[in-house]
Amino acid sequence: MDLMEYQAKELFAKHGVPVTVGTVVTDPADAAAAAEANGGKVVVKAQVKVGGRGKAGGVKLAQDPQEAVAKAEEILGMDIKGHTVHRALIAPAADIAEEYYFSFLVDRANRNYLCIASIEGGVEIEVTAVENPDAVAKVAVDPQVGVDDAKADEIVAATGFPAEIADEAKSVIKSLWDVFIKEDASLVEVNPLVRLGDGSLEALDGKVSLDTNADFRHEDHAAFELVEDADPLELAAAEKGLNYVKLDGSVGIIGNGAGLVMSTLDVVAYAGEEHGGVKPANFLDIGGGASAEVMANGLHIIIGDEQVRSVFVNVFGGITSCDAVANGIVGALQKLGDEATKPLVVRLDGNNVEEGRRILNEANHPLVTLVDTMDGAADKAAELAAANRA
Ligand code: GDP
Ligand code: MN
Repeated sequence: MDLMEYQAKELFAKHGVPVTVGTVVTDPADAAAAAEANGGKVVVKAQVKVGGRGKAGGVKLAQDPQEAVAKAEEILGMDIKGHTVHRALIAPAADIAEEYYFSFLVDRANRNYLCIASIEGGVEIEVTAVENPDAVAKVAVDPQVGVDDAKADEIVAATGFPAEIADEAKSVIKSLWDVFIKEDASLVEVNPLVRLGDGSLEALDGKVSLDTNADFRHEDHAAFELVEDADPLELAAAEKGLNYVKLDGSVGIIGNGAGLVMSTLDVVAYAGEEHGGVKPANFLDIGGGASAEVMANGLHIIIGDEQVRSVFVNVFGGITSCDAVANGIVGALQKLGDEATKPLVVRLDGNNVEEGRRILNEANHPLVTLVDTMDGAADKAAELAAANRA
């Protein structure tokens, strides 16, 4: 889960990284009081989960509360790279002497943690890395050891932080490491980490990605989920514990196993080209136990998607055999009753497939079409979606 800047800064503050969180407003009228509370002269910053807000006009200085209202009016509602700005952060304007770049991340290629840092921050680090690679330090961090004093010294030296701020940089680095490890993050990035006019350091921007696999040990992370920004179908699916991602097409997809569902999306998109550009409507992996209840929950979500015109159920029987899945489908259709209104194309294969097909044939539900192959079923589902187009 990626955090907004203000959320990242809340975690920074919790772990002692020097930062001024500021005040979040959703209504420009609240910007005056927020500016007042943050020293009058402020920076108004669009809160969207995308970089380059400054260049896009989403970061603006205001000399006084009145100007803060004007800047908030400009920024709220703005579109930045396809993201609508619903929130603005009002923070004290910083007196910047120098801008640095700092990050901790998971280095997947080397199965390790990595620190990337540069005293040439502020701008896009990717550009610096290409044009002036010597200015970007990369220091591997052994997960078993972490960032101790020796490692922090090594990072400070490799980055080339000025001697006067070496001690403070070391302390900031250790605090950022705490954010990274103690919050189970996969990325902690500060750009810019600034040296202020008085010589002290401050994290002026923050980007944090949290590993949701570790949510069970971070009760407070649930609050970072911005419910009003989420897709209502995705929220409903999450409540049922379903692994669902809303997409833009008209063929609802249910499968078991992430790999099978991913390839189902490809096959449907490919087949859809022959039917006027029909596309998959979602990703939904119902996992191993395709019980009637799980199947009914999945179908309920997919049928609730107004864009869906047909549904493709693609199941490969493994530990959960095809007859159990077939009973799941029949049971789900019974449970849904009149709610089941969209044609279902079912392809079963694998463990106990004959019995699975027999169960579905015997049930002979008017909405269900059985197709033996994945390509054939994708084609049928795309055809039905095209025919049912509103
Ligand atoms: P980004 O463009 O999305 O990365 O947003 P940032 O928060 O990094 O802001 C972009 C740039 O705006 C920074 O690199 C700074 O140069 C500038 N900026 C941000 N906050 C302040 C501030 O409080 N005072 C001043 N003078 N400049 C700021
Ligand atoms: Mn930035």
